[in-house]
Amino acid sequence: MSSTLLEEATRIARDFDFPAEQVQRGVAEYIKQSNEGLDKEHTTLSQIPTFVTAVPNGTEKGLYLAVDLGGTNFRVCSVQLHGDTTFNLTQSKIMIPRELMASGTSKDLFLFLARQIEAFLRIHHNEHFEAHQLRRREGHRDEYMFDLGFTFSFPVRQIGINSGTLIRWTKGFNIPDAVGHDVCALLQSAIDALELPVRVAALVNDTVGTLMARSYTSPGETGTFLGAIFGTGTNGAYVEKLENITKLKHLEGAHYDKSTGEMIINAEWGSFDNHMSVLPSTVFDHELDADSNNPGVQMFEKRVSGMFLGEILRRALLAMHNDSKLGLFKTSQTSKVSIPSDSLFYRQWGLDTSLLSQVEADSTKQMSDVKAALKDHLKIEHPSDEECKAVKILVHAIGKRAARLSAVPIAAILIHSRKIETCDMIDVGVDGSLVEFYPNFEGYMRDALREVPEVGPAGEKKVRIGISKDGSGVGAALIALVASKDK
Ligand code: ADP
Repeated sequence: MSSTLLEEATRIARDFDFPAEQVQRGVAEYIKQSNEGLDKEHTTLSQIPTFVTAVPNGTEKGLYLAVDLGGTNFRVCSVQLHGDTTFNLTQSKIMIPRELMASGTSKDLFLFLARQIEAFLRIHHNEHFEAHQLRRREGHRDEYMFDLGFTFSFPVRQIGINSGTLIRWTKGFNIPDAVGHDVCALLQSAIDALELPVRVAALVNDTVGTLMARSYTSPGETGTFLGAIFGTGTNGAYVEKLENITKLKHLEGAHYDKSTGEMIINAEWGSFDNHMSVLPSTVFDHELDADSNNPGVQMFEKRVSGMFLGEILRRALLAMHNDSKLGLFKTSQTSKVSIPSDSLFYRQWGLDTSLLSQVEADSTKQMSDVKAALKDHLKIEHPSDEECKAVKILVHAIGKRAARLSAVPIAAILIHSRKIETCDMIDVGVDGSLVEFYPNFEGYMRDALREVPEVGPAGEKKVRIGISKDGSGVGAALIALVASKDK
């Protein structure tokens, strides 16, 4: 039995191969789809203009506010930028009451958010707050003491650095009267109703925040060129020449600073190649997509990001479990393996991607970390060594394919921008648990970068990659700063 099990695991693993020639085809297709996205609306790659037209160099100074609405919590923070690439961040996190997320009015929700900002200011910046109240009483009613960056992780149609209309709610939010309205204006009205000294200066996407945060903190003279997230989802933002963003010409009423000749583009690359012309596919990818609540979209993300890799693995292991000839994790006369019926192994989305990192990191001969991970995550006890080996083979294949796929947008953006030819060093900021914790994720990504002839080993060496934490905190503060300088 055992040799068949390992042979089958190896055969399935081969289906996850993503060889150099496919990487190259992927890059060519990405360049094509990204150019379409710069030219017109409603393309697979959205290539959203962010109206952020400068990146920081680490000398920026001042005290800024940032808030983050994107899930179950609302985060408020203040960021003191010291002007020497360092900063201090103070933050609070508040759970959003369910009734405000799904049944109230937009006024109720935004007033709740403004009240949290007020509470934060009273606790952490009371001196400023009281000084401002005094000034107001003296008649200076239009003074703002804080510029605020608003990270709002829902689909918006942005028309300026501090305005964007909500297209639709996601992630359990449902307040119909907000749809079609400018979310910055909604927040500003609530802030004004409480007479807070705060101006909503910028609407922020978290990927752009990652790029900005990295650019402020990264060493050296060169600003950061690209920010990328490999966490629950995957996305990237990069600095584009204004003249290449041809669709900006059709945007009426947009106001932005043209002096730098550049603008950050939010690629929304999770939806790269939704029509599947170059992305690799196995039967497990296909089933995962068909059983998801959004079949046919986010096809790149479904092969790359943390939300999906665990489910791909679960489906592959389950197929081997259900195959009576293989009998993976099946008790028999020779095997004492056990899985209770309530194991997450049997539940869609039940396998967390952190298991892949634990398994891949295990270098022990007894595979003790693999065994511990199977027990902790899936209540699978006493697996045989062959079964653990089969898990390792599949994990390695799925993780490596994700990392090699991640090289596709990065290589494409480097080539399209001609950065490889024109720069000695290209700085890239990354964030997300997958890139941070999956062993050698960056190494596999770099292997694939070198296999693209226009990048090659010399180009790959020019790419400096650094972890950039807190895009929605310090990144949002920096965007508020850039926006306030624009005025
Ligand atoms: P988010 O993207 O939501 O801001 P993270 O960057 O922490 O947050 O990403 C969360 C995703 O990463 C989840 O899908 C989770 O399964 C996955 N994840 C968490 N820990 C790890 C890990 N150690 N290795 C790989 N993936 C992980």
